[in-house]
Amino acid sequence: MLPSRCSKCAKLLIAAAIASAGPKAFVGMEMKGAVRGPEAKRSRSDVSDVARAAEAAEAAEAAEAAEAAGEGSEGKVVILGAGLQGAALAYYLTRRGVKPLIVEREKVAAAASGKGGGFLARDWGDSITRKLHTVSFQLHEELAEKLKIESYRKLPVLSVSPGKRSSRVPDLCEWLDGDIEDIRMMDPNGAQVAPLELCTKLIDAAVAEGAELLIGAAEGVETEADGDIERVTGVVVDGKVVPAEKVCVCLGPWAALAQDWFNMPVPMTGVKSSSIVYKSAEPVKPFAVFCGEDPRYGTHLEIYPRNSGEVYICGIGGSEYVDGTQLRRGELPPSDVKPDPARVKAATACFSEMSHKLGGEPDVVQACMRPCPPDALPIMGKVPHVRGAYISAGHNCWGILWAPVSGLAMSELILDGAASCVDLRHFSPARFARSGSAAAMRGRKMGAVPVGEQW
Ligand SMILES: Cc1cc2nc3c(=O)[nH]c(=O)nc-3n(C[C@H](O)[C@H](O)[C@H](O)COP(=O)(O)OP(=O)(O)OC[C@H]3O[C@@H](n4cnc5c(N)ncnc54)[C@H](O)[C@@H]3O)c2cc1C
Repeated sequence: MLPSRCSKCAKLLIAAAIASAGPKAFVGMEMKGAVRGPEAKRSRSDVSDVARAAEAAEAAEAAEAAEAAGEGSEGKVVILGAGLQGAALAYYLTRRGVKPLIVEREKVAAAASGKGGGFLARDWGDSITRKLHTVSFQLHEELAEKLKIESYRKLPVLSVSPGKRSSRVPDLCEWLDGDIEDIRMMDPNGAQVAPLELCTKLIDAAVAEGAELLIGAAEGVETEADGDIERVTGVVVDGKVVPAEKVCVCLGPWAALAQDWFNMPVPMTGVKSSSIVYKSAEPVKPFAVFCGEDPRYGTHLEIYPRNSGEVYICGIGGSEYVDGTQLRRGELPPSDVKPDPARVKAATACFSEMSHKLGGEPDVVQACMRPCPPDALPIMGKVPHVRGAYISAGHNCWGILWAPVSGLAMSELILDGAASCVDLRHFSPARFARSGSAAAMRGRKMGAVPVGEQW
């Protein structure tokens, strides 16, 4: 039996289902909460304004691209957030000679970009996300070589069904020496990276080329009228205005703050999940393992041994959904995102049953939030009605894999006026302001079948 509820397997299932049933099969799918509460009120009242402004901004785009191309490092580019999206953008901007200022509230990789799994899959995209997967998978390989990322490696992916072991279970993975009902090869071409190492090395490389890192909380964006639209003049950090000509909001779940800064809907849910890490003194044979739902524990474990000897485990179930209203009030900064002891206990028991060799009490317990827009697609592009304003956030369960392509694409958009490495149209920040948008097309269920926690 294949796993059916883990977040990444859900995407695999959807891709396969779309291929066999065609997109019409998805009409009428149950939707995730979309825009809720005060966000809903704001988005309805602002829809026509934003749509009109989007047209004006598109008309100005060609002029702006020319202006941007000749801009060099004169106009300051400010990146808000030193997670992987901010770090990758800073890195690719410095490759083009631009020296951005990166503003981070706590520390580099303070949130999911330091505590996520780091699993990378080349071929798991669907018709919309395929290129994000394939281009970024390749960029990871290049970055690993350039930045000497020690945690990067290729590894095969196994699918495991939890349950009582039978004599028919093949001996594919020696450290799964406890109870498992079935085990199969799922994808021979996976890869992994420790996100903390990648994020730190991207920032270090950017700083070595002249980028600056400022520790402080971004509180707002200053604009002034520029013809028929607004343009960015600065960002407010800890109460002080820092001059800026361009600003990119890379705040993960806290990108919800941009809704008030730009007066447009930026719907976002923070999916808060715990994870556990074991430290093995001996090397652990490299397999990424995706487990099916285990109803005894409420888990759907994802297990990633790293070449450091760490064994990282997420997919421990019972995630908490933190809505955009809370995030916009500044609640739950990274250091306040704490693990759920009940879920840690369940995951520990489940894993210890599957692996007598590695199980027991974990060495690290932690938690972080996945940034999840209502359609589960990232928000990447220009803010339609504010010249010089951009968003790159909401990368959901693929923000480590997609960081390089997102950083490269956003650097191209900011400097050239358009991205050439990938088509950003599906990810436009303006899509939530358009009625009948594709944002309403996905949900957490496909018919009656649950398709993962993030939907
Ligand atoms: C348990 C778990 C496992 C995951 N596993 C994988 C995986 O295997 N593969 C994969 O591809 N993806 C995975 N992901 C998803 C991935 O980790 C995220 O999508 C990605 O890290 C998000 O990066 P980000 O830069 O957009 O946001 P974040 O990492 O959230 O960074 C945002 C930054 O903004 C800062 N910030 C917040 N507010 C302010 C402010 N007001 N001013 C200044 N700075 C501020 C924060 O401190 C933080 O450093 C996982 C996620 C989770 C939760």
